Order: sequence, then C-alpha cells, then structure tokens
Amino acid sequence: MGKQEDFVLRALEERDVRFVRLWFTDVLGSLKSVAIAPAELEGAFSEGIGFDGSAIQGFARVHEADMLLKPDPSTFQILPWRGEAPATARMFCDIAMPDGSPSFADPRHVLKRTLTKASEAGFTFYTHPEIEFYVFRGKPDVGGRPVPVDDSGYFDHTAQGGGQDFRREVITMLENMGISVEFSHHEGGPGQQEIDLRYADALSTADNVMTFRTVVREVALSQGKWASFMPKPFTEHPGSAMHTHLSLFEGDENAFYEAGAEYQLSATGRSFIAGVLEHTAEITAVTNQWVNSYKRLASGYEAPNYLSWGHNNRSALVRVPMYKPHKSGSARVEHRGIDAGCNPYLTYALVLAAGLKGIENGSTLPPETEDNVWSLTDRERKTMGLTPMPRNLDEAIREMESSELVAETLGEHVFDFFLRNKRQEWDAYRSQVTQFEIDRLLPVL
Ligand code: GLU
Ligand code: MG
Ligand code: MG
Repeated sequence: MGKQEDFVLRALEERDVRFVRLWFTDVLGSLKSVAIAPAELEGAFSEGIGFDGSAIQGFARVHEADMLLKPDPSTFQILPWRGEAPATARMFCDIAMPDGSPSFADPRHVLKRTLTKASEAGFTFYTHPEIEFYVFRGKPDVGGRPVPVDDSGYFDHTAQGGGQDFRREVITMLENMGISVEFSHHEGGPGQQEIDLRYADALSTADNVMTFRTVVREVALSQGKWASFMPKPFTEHPGSAMHTHLSLFEGDENAFYEAGAEYQLSATGRSFIAGVLEHTAEITAVTNQWVNSYKRLASGYEAPNYLSWGHNNRSALVRVPMYKPHKSGSARVEHRGIDAGCNPYLTYALVLAAGLKGIENGSTLPPETEDNVWSLTDRERKTMGLTPMPRNLDEAIREMESSELVAETLGEHVFDFFLRNKRQEWDAYRSQVTQFEIDRLLPVL
C-alpha cells in the first residue's frame, strides 16, 4: 500500500465515511458510479473491483465483459452534498482488464496515454476550462419548452439574484472538494451561467469537469431547479461552450512564452495553434459530439464556425489572449470551439495530439484573422482562405473517419465505437420531421 492509499484509509475512519463511490466516465462522457463499503477499499486498491463492462456505453463486447475499477487515491474527496458523519466519499478510477492492463475503452486512459506522449516530448499540458450552462425553473417536460430561471444577460447582477446565489453554492462545494474557481458570472442567455475553473494539469481538469457537472446538477436539484450543459437549448439565445485555455510547460518554463515575440507567443506556441487548426475538422466530432452541437456553431452568438486564429478576436476559433506580465507563466491560447456537452478526457487528448503534431512538424501559422469573421461575406472569407468547420455531425463524422491522428489517439476500440454510435445518432436525426418543416410547409404546400 502506498502513502496515498494509507492516507485514504485513515481518512475513512477520521471522517466517518460509510460509502465510497467509485467514479468513472463512459466514452460519451457520462459519469458512472458504484458505491462500495469502506471495508472493500483495501481490496479495491490492491486488486480492483470487478464490474460488467458490457453494460456501459462503449466499454466492452458481451464476451469480454469483465473489467476492474482501480481507484486513484489522489482523487479522494468527501461529497459535500451528502452530509457529514456519516459521510460519502468519491474517487475517480482507472479501468483495467482482468489481467491488470489498462482498458482501451477508458477515456481517462486515452488522455493519460496522450499526456505520456507529451511528456516524452518534454511537455506538461495545462488546461483551464470556462464552463457555460443554463439553469431552468424545473426539469423541462418532454415536448415542453424549458423556462430559464431569470431574464438577465451578460455580466448582469440580478437583484435578489438567484443566479449569484446559485453560483456561490456551486463554488463553495467545488472549493470544499479542492477545486479552485477563478471567475463566475451571468452569461449572455437568460438563466445562462459561466464558471471558470483554475488551470491545472489536463488530467485533473478533466476529472474536475466531471465533478463540476455533477455539483451543478446537485445544487440545481436541491433548489428545485434544473441545470443543463446541452450545447444549444434555444434557437434565439447563445449556446453553451466550454472554452479552454491551453498551455504547455517545459519544467517550470511556459513553452508558449517568448519575451519580445509577437503577442509574446513562442515558435512552439505558434506551431501548436497551427497543428490545432490543421486537425480541427478531424476532431470536431469529439469536441462537438452531438447533433445539437452544430446548431451552436451555426448560429453566431460568439461561437466560431471558421478555422481561424486571432489576437483578442472573439470570433476566431483559437484566440491568443493578452499576455499578463504580472502573472508569470500565463502565456496560453484559448480554444473557443469545444462545447459544454463534450467528453473532457477525449477532447483534451485530441486537442493536445493535434497541437503536438503541429510542434513535431514545425507547422506554420496562416495569417491571423483581424476582422470579425461573422461579419464578413462568404466571398470575403473565401478570398482570405478561411475554411468552415464541419457544418453538422455528418460532415464531422466523415472527417473523423479518415483521420489517422484521431484513430491513433483514441485507439481502435474507442475510435470504432464512437464512429458507430455517432452514425446511429445522425441516422436517427436525419429522418426526423421537425417543427421547422411543419411550420414552414404545411400552410403552403
Ligand atoms: N456562449 C458562447 C459560445 O457558445 C461564448 C460566449 C463567450 O465568449 O464567453 O461560444
Ligand atoms: Mg463565456
Ligand atoms: Mg472565453
């Protein structure tokens, strides 16, 4: 038993923990949980806890169903919403095959493998997500229209505001669980909120995003509300993004920083962005994985839809924010394409793989886009050589199918499952007759 395992076993007694929840994530990004009694934990650390992988989306075929959960002791936390004494704790798990080798279906493993590749090239990958979501008055009825908790907009301070009380409760819980929050504010849509987590290594951030979604849902339910990370719940309001600030460190040095360079952005940083732009079309089926994701990208409202980068330009897919000299090491780039409904492990693995490819190939950046991309005409965009991002899930799947980078990064199992699953989603969707068609056509045809 290592030191961290000992610490967890001691904490179980000190905090009177009665249930330990083992958390893991399926291929589409849903959190899964199994509770074990504290007495089982020592065995879980040494041998793992068996479960039926075939019951989980994307994990295993029926004939190879046995899998093991191996809790990661560094992620041990008490769940604040379950009360104290007796308490409930959680740990994220790695998934192993019966012989102890890592499961190729485990999204956490996909990210870990990509982080190892980065570290072989000398880099540590840090991410800082800005997570947007809507809060509704209650669980929307099937077929009904969701009712947001307020009518406020960007940065509004609502008197007696439900919004800030909601955010405060979420933030307090997150901080109790060791997750630091940097900013929070009302976002552009009615009932839409944003909370930004402090930057951390990408594995911790991906775990934190999963915890974050759970905490937000729990707080909403405890207040009789309903929270959703659906990328685009309303036609006429902004969608919910998960902008992520990215940086690479070499030891203590920020590899994206170069004093005196344009925007203080190093050659490594420039090649990283170039790699991300080159591979965006291939990875979009994962960073924007739902039919609905493309409604967000199509509609403006500050969501990108062209492969572009710029300095402080919010219409660009990748934005280089102003460097803050007082915050040493803060050089970073913001990816504005990712949406709030993604699997954070797979998303960060692919964005990192794309950036690393750019560095490896010494890719050069196309000229930056200084204009507001949304206000240009199609012709102007064409002259500037701006390529659109995939316009729907079908286009994104087609781009992904022929991608070596995605196949290699996700591994064959996740790659095949993901494509099969997303094809089914697209096929189910494209045969739907929508209200849009009925409203437009029934009266006139
Ligand atoms: N909600 C916008 C989107 O879907 C982003 C707004 C912002 O710039 O924070 O991309
Ligand atoms: Mg925002
Ligand atoms: Mg942002």
